[in-house]
Amino acid sequence: MDPPETDLEPSNKKLEVVKEDGPSFPCDLYDSEVVHKIAQILLPGLATACVDNTTGDIFRGPAFVAVDMRKEMVDYLTQRSETFIAEAVIQNGETDMEASEHPTDIISDFIEDFASSKRNLLGRVSSWLLSERREDKIDDFVQEMELNGFWLLDRRQAIAQTLLKNVDFKNTYHCNMKFVTAEELAEHTGQCIFRCMDCTSEGCDASFCAVHLEKHESVCPFKILPCEQKCHEYLARREMDRHCITVCPMKLVNCPFYIVGCQSTIPRCTIEQHRLEFLVSHMKCILQRIHKEASEEDLKHRAQLMGKLDPERLSEAQDARSLTFVVKDLDAKMGPVEHVTASKVDEESMETASKVGEDPMETVNEPKDIPQEVESQTQPSQKDVNSSIKREDADSQRES
Ligand SMILES: [Zn+2]
Ligand SMILES: [Zn+2]
Ligand SMILES: [Zn+2]
Ligand SMILES: [Zn+2]
Repeated sequence: MDPPETDLEPSNKKLEVVKEDGPSFPCDLYDSEVVHKIAQILLPGLATACVDNTTGDIFRGPAFVAVDMRKEMVDYLTQRSETFIAEAVIQNGETDMEASEHPTDIISDFIEDFASSKRNLLGRVSSWLLSERREDKIDDFVQEMELNGFWLLDRRQAIAQTLLKNVDFKNTYHCNMKFVTAEELAEHTGQCIFRCMDCTSEGCDASFCAVHLEKHESVCPFKILPCEQKCHEYLARREMDRHCITVCPMKLVNCPFYIVGCQSTIPRCTIEQHRLEFLVSHMKCILQRIHKEASEEDLKHRAQLMGKLDPERLSEAQDARSLTFVVKDLDAKMGPVEHVTASKVDEESMETASKVGEDPMETVNEPKDIPQEVESQTQPSQKDVNSSIKREDADSQRES
């Protein structure tokens, strides 16, 4: 992070120059990712030039020309990169320079130009250029150079740095700021967007250019995040999937009455609430299996009546098996299924007072408009649950 000692050394002599020529403590930081990429493509580029230059040559293999070729290539790339901006201006006009072109692509084009200029007569034959044998030879030679430490990465990085600075005229991938004093420079390097920084998440040992902080944080496996399913826990990204499908209280599960026909999927921590809110609906599901011929409307009505018969026992039934047991028991006591039409329900609710006492069932139960109320409370709350789940989905999508 701190500028190398040698950069701070120039001391008084340079300071004097500074006063005449303007600031002379440059920040030499750059996007290390891009420099690394450029350094990576240098070696295969050199291998290509060497292989194509010596193909079919019985006296010289690629290794024979490698030293000279490397020197030529570095000179060529340096020179091309130095004149790149001037050429781009001439070709495209100052306003329309190829701003979108990435330095790696620019350098890659230079390398290709260099390698193709080095092809010997046989190397130019298209059947050779397209052959797998050529690809293999190039790969082999890259490996050979790597094994022999022929052109070490840090030396290639140094060249890549120069090339990057030459072609990156918009200063997108390197810093071009200059300072009058070493102190100013030192202060800047602590803030520079190209300074190297370590990930602050516990357990993560990644280092990167500050400019890539956001990118890293968006993938860092150790970054602490709120639960994706919106329970109250915070956990590392790498723990998230496991948490969500195992211990998370917001994990979606089937209703415990799934086997009798409730299709709801609900957050695990709301099972109890769902069980109580949808008691009548779950009872109706069970009644449907007992009275296969009966209509929806009649069974709903019967479930509502039944709900008033023994509410305590019904609401205590935790699972499909125990609820089925209670429902069957109460159903047996209720006698045949009463047939009600929608209009009759309305009629009844209006005439409740006069009808109470006429029907033996009615004497046991509350007036019929009360079960209806229960139902009308139940229905909207089902919608509420659904819409709140949807809302959460939308929230999490927006966040991600
Ligand atoms: Zn800087
Ligand atoms: Zn990290
Ligand atoms: Zn959770
Ligand atoms: Zn359910």
